[in-house]
Amino acid sequence: MPSFSIAPKIAEDGPNDTALGDIGAGRYAPSPSGDLHLGNLRTAVLAWLAARATGRAFVMRVEDLDPQRSSQEAAVRQLDDLHELGLDWDGAVVYQSRRLEVYDQVIAELCARDMAYPCFCSRKEILAAPHAPHSPPGTYPGTCRGLDDKEVEARKQESTRLGRGWSLRLRARESQWTIRDDIHGEYTGEVDDFVLRRGDGVVAYNLAVVVDDSYQGVDQVLRGDDLLSSAPRQAYLAHILGLPEPTYAHVPLVYNHEGVRLSKRDGAITLRQLREEHGFSAREVFHALSASIAGKPCDTTDELLKCYAEWPPPKSLETIRFNNPERPASALELLEVASVRGAGP
Ligand code: GLU
Repeated sequence: MPSFSIAPKIAEDGPNDTALGDIGAGRYAPSPSGDLHLGNLRTAVLAWLAARATGRAFVMRVEDLDPQRSSQEAAVRQLDDLHELGLDWDGAVVYQSRRLEVYDQVIAELCARDMAYPCFCSRKEILAAPHAPHSPPGTYPGTCRGLDDKEVEARKQESTRLGRGWSLRLRARESQWTIRDDIHGEYTGEVDDFVLRRGDGVVAYNLAVVVDDSYQGVDQVLRGDDLLSSAPRQAYLAHILGLPEPTYAHVPLVYNHEGVRLSKRDGAITLRQLREEHGFSAREVFHALSASIAGKPCDTTDELLKCYAEWPPPKSLETIRFNNPERPASALELLEVASVRGAGP
């Protein structure tokens, strides 16, 4: 497989090459659309722990590509909260909004290799189009894949006239890809012609995440299991770009008392709300989070790391309490388990 020409450049320019060497890295990559809630914070602590416990660097990335949903103010608040919990990270924080030229280069290379094509379909058209049996809803059926140059030109002119944009999709050569996940084992998922650049010009998450994980030297991706089904697409893209595939660990999310994943609607669940409205200190919140991970409340990240070192073998992420998908931790339970002051709202 020919290696993608931008790959060595990404690696050479990576902050880890000079600052962090080649010890590998874990990461946390929040989208700055609001304050982090208890579930986000727990995933961040787990990502930190997984990286530090395996001697890796830990790097931070702000995924602020979508100008409608991101703000610098939210990013600063998120990073402050993570610091307050006691998390530290290596190297400078990477902001995706400052790396648009790099994504453009990658997209240009994919186009030059005929691995991308413009798509003029609306979401409605994609949902309504006939699909291959068993393909998950939303899978792209390939409607625009076979358009010839003349048709593409005509569709572009038509879209421009109507004031509509068009997206750019990957011309995938596989329909499935298998990843290895520390928690879910071998996981095979759909790879369709997913979007690389949206119709509004915003670079797609699936592209940026792959390019940036490589740039930051990330070889361990721990994140919420809502992203498990995206991992095969990302690993496949890394493969065709000639970039190394990271190892994955998709951890269960924290749920609310109705068994639904936490969201802003659940009210007082951010660090600030827990502090301001319920009198929890950051330390108490860390007690709750560490107890939900290690089975006992820890005062500091160092103590959590020690606790991990004392876990009985096999020392894998699977042994972390509450990582069993059968038993999702609820926000209420998180706060109760550390016998902190009550259970929030
Ligand atoms: N930015 C994504 C989020 O906040 C996470 C991306 C990732 O970890 O790959 O949901």
